[in-house]
Amino acid sequence: MDSLKKYYMELGVDEAVYDYAQSIEKELKPRFEKMDAVAERNQLKVLKAMQKNKIAEAHLSGTTGYGYNDIGREAIEAVYADIFGTEDALVRPQITCGTHALGLALGAVLRPGDEILAVSGKPYDTLEEVIGIRESKGSLAEYGITYSQVDLLENGEFDYEGIRKAAGSRTKLIHIQRSKGYASRKTLSVEQIGEAAAFLHKINPEWIVMVDNCYGEFVEETEPSDTGADMVVGSLIKNPGGGLAPIGGYICGRRDLIEQCACRLTTPGLGKEVGASLGVNRQFLQGIFMAPTVVNAALKGAVFAANLYEKLGFKVIPDASEERYDIIQAVELHDPEKLKAFCEGIQKASPVDSYVTPEPWAMPGYDSDVIMAAGTFVSGSSIELSADGPMKEPYAVYFQGGLTYPHAKYGIIMSLQRMVEKGLLEIKTV
Ligand SMILES: *Cc1c(COP(=O)(O)O)cnc(C)c1O
Repeated sequence: MDSLKKYYMELGVDEAVYDYAQSIEKELKPRFEKMDAVAERNQLKVLKAMQKNKIAEAHLSGTTGYGYNDIGREAIEAVYADIFGTEDALVRPQITCGTHALGLALGAVLRPGDEILAVSGKPYDTLEEVIGIRESKGSLAEYGITYSQVDLLENGEFDYEGIRKAAGSRTKLIHIQRSKGYASRKTLSVEQIGEAAAFLHKINPEWIVMVDNCYGEFVEETEPSDTGADMVVGSLIKNPGGGLAPIGGYICGRRDLIEQCACRLTTPGLGKEVGASLGVNRQFLQGIFMAPTVVNAALKGAVFAANLYEKLGFKVIPDASEERYDIIQAVELHDPEKLKAFCEGIQKASPVDSYVTPEPWAMPGYDSDVIMAAGTFVSGSSIELSADGPMKEPYAVYFQGGLTYPHAKYGIIMSLQRMVEKGLLEIKTV
């Protein structure tokens, strides 16, 4: 027996499941090569930014208190600006998560009477309360900032006609969400976003095009900020943190906008000058250095899973051969037991909390129980292999992440193994 098979079998994988998984993976080699080529380019892009900014050992330690003259923090922000091709960047542990980064960016550049125009449909759930689409304390709506929305067309393209009609004299900021998140539409490519940005700026060059970049960083060779977005915003416990950042968010964009964001995060007058980095500078730098290959690992895992499950007859979104623009994969399982088994498999394959059994649970904001699997080093990190799904039709599991491809692969194999073990599925010997 080959030694790889032996390792898998020692970790509880049946021979038939292993053989099936290997047969799937074999077919994916040409696709993986293309993905490796993107990772290689992004790795060089990151290295170039680090070398240009003369990253040195002195940048790896942090400051305390006010955090004046935090050279590490300043270097990190310069590196991010270069990677994302923007004039400036705000990259801080004081930005607590992706939602906070997005809320910060919106609150910083908008004033009473301004209107947000979302052109890729309804924003990510957590932004509903930030904007005030759902009533909430401290929402932008309370400050007299209004909101309007244009959905994407049936075919996933921007509704340019609709945008023209919905825009008004108060329109100030255009919201575009790159990743579909947990919606059913397609994820937008950087090229599509670039076309939209050009269209929008042609109507009004003053409009601020803001892209929610969560889950999209380093999936392609370019970022939306390379193709016309005025601000890109995301979370460091997703792609750009490379699995190492323990907290944080970023905003990259036009210098005047970043200054407004800094003044909102700290205070007017203090701006970017304060905000001790404590101990995170090394993790932020090493994290962004690792991010291109970590994203590559997660993407390969998603493609492997799509192929593994599609060939078993499940609907997978994106499908097995589709081009990828973010790291999220959905599989419709149409069976509560299969959904549970999937999550149990992911959990069993984890480096942390592998002995824990995930159970469906009521979650705030959801109208059904939700099951979640995550054995992560950083709590809630979704660049690490994690899966969740609401306990209702179509019993879809959404999963993402994987710091290394072998781990992502093993996790997905274990999700299938769990279904086979529980008699929910049969794998015929290939
Ligand atoms: C994750 C995510 C967010 C919110 O980020 P949190 O860190 O969970 O607050 C916003 N938009 C998209 C598209 C996301 O994927």
